[in-house]
Amino acid sequence: MSGDDYLALLKRARERLPDDISKVSRFELPEIDVLYEGKTTVWRNFGDVADVIRREHLAFFQYMIRELGTAGTMDGRRAMFKGRVVKKNIEDKLGSFLNAYVYCQECRSPDTRLVREGRTMVLRCDACGGHRPVAVRKAKRTTRESAALQEGKIYDVLIEDIGKKGDGVAKLGNYTIFVTGAPRGAEMKILIEKVTGNIAYARPHVE
Ligand SMILES: [Zn+2]
Repeated sequence: MSGDDYLALLKRARERLPDDISKVSRFELPEIDVLYEGKTTVWRNFGDVADVIRREHLAFFQYMIRELGTAGTMDGRRAMFKGRVVKKNIEDKLGSFLNAYVYCQECRSPDTRLVREGRTMVLRCDACGGHRPVAVRKAKRTTRESAALQEGKIYDVLIEDIGKKGDGVAKLGNYTIFVTGAPRGAEMKILIEKVTGNIAYARPHVE
């Protein structure tokens, strides 16, 4: 197919789009601008997209990393993802986000707001007045955080601090561990003696 043929085809396809679709897309999403720096994916205009869809940057970012199954950070107006994430994948997840948290289900307008009503989040449409509850998922825990510390087992830790009673303090996932007689800065093996909630007591383990 020649370039001219393609353009003609594109023009015809655009003319065939029903009117309501162009009316509904009242906001103009910028083309997603992605580049790769080594093994990092940089979404350069993440902030611009978040502004256009008028959603909280952090919540939008957290949705993206969860759905993309990666880790990442926000760097000013940029979003950085660990690993190489293909652009198509980002576009797909953005589409899912729009359907879940932006578009009105009744009139498809993007002129909506997320408002908290009691314990639920509700998507309210300014165009038609429609509203529906939206599911808000909690951030996924990392495997390290969800792994339960077990009494009688040995773990490798770094003693980050010294507690009021002179014990070494280490952190592991959600746990704070007090280690008898451990000096600050030591990387050591410890034996867990007791676990109470998120607090654990241990002693240095010598092999
Ligand atoms: Zn609506």
